[in-house]
Amino acid sequence: RGWIVCADLDTDKWAGQRMAVDPLIELRDVNKYYGNLHVLQDINLTVGRGEVVVVIGPSGSGKSTLCRVINRLETIESGSIVLDGHPLPDEGKELAGLRAEVGMVFQSFNLFAHKTVLANVSLAQTKVRKRKKEEADKRSRELLERVGLADQADKYPAQLSGGQQQRVAIARALAMNPQALLFDEPTSALDPEMINEVLEVMRRLAAEGMTMVVVTHEMGFARSAANRVVFMADGKIIEDRTPEAFFTAPESDRARDFLSKIL
Ligand code: ADP
Ligand code: MG
Repeated sequence: RGWIVCADLDTDKWAGQRMAVDPLIELRDVNKYYGNLHVLQDINLTVGRGEVVVVIGPSGSGKSTLCRVINRLETIESGSIVLDGHPLPDEGKELAGLRAEVGMVFQSFNLFAHKTVLANVSLAQTKVRKRKKEEADKRSRELLERVGLADQADKYPAQLSGGQQQRVAIARALAMNPQALLFDEPTSALDPEMINEVLEVMRRLAAEGMTMVVVTHEMGFARSAANRVVFMADGKIIEDRTPEAFFTAPESDRARDFLSKIL
């Protein structure tokens, strides 16, 4: 997946510090506050092209905020965020362009209730990517097929299960041809029997080389699909390691405590 790994280094120890050949998302000394709350503290994180980074940590540790600042849905007080070599500006046309390069999938699917599945997937393509409707609809149908929903195109979101709605949300994010996808607890709102159908789509995207940042409590997914696990607590990145290293021998008390509660 495009990493220079020095064979003579302890790869577990250095997993989070390998030199990315091709960094796609870079956060440098990022700090963010909500009033007095220092919600992101000196965050340094590089996501290489094609990499899958799973972010885990207790509720309130800043995982969602991390996702939101990467797409500049939230301002930051200091530091920088660079997407594909371009520093994220505060506003303007360039921001809109860069934002479209990173698709977001949320816990709540955020589909338009009064639009069909097909229209939901086509909407941003015509509005933001300025595709013609026929072209957008063609692409939407291909993507719905890819997430296993080819036969649901003309339904409305309320007629689908939660797992199907989340797969529509993934198709919608893919429709923009993003360079990376961010997932913020994509399966947390789903009934257990629907979690796997969504994780399966995500696993396939990962295997196809999509760059992904995934906030999730699904440790099976982290173990099987992640290149790195980033553990956050109290607004800080506490560990950034391979899944094997993290799950077999977490270094920090915070991570050990967290794992003992969820595993
Ligand atoms: P996580 O996703 O890890 O649960 P969040 O990033 O949602 O954590 O939140 C981190 C902290 O920031 C929490 O203490 C939360 O209450 C606080 N927070 C999140 N969003 C806001 C907001 N819009 N205004 C004020 N505080 C917020
Ligand atoms: Mg969250």
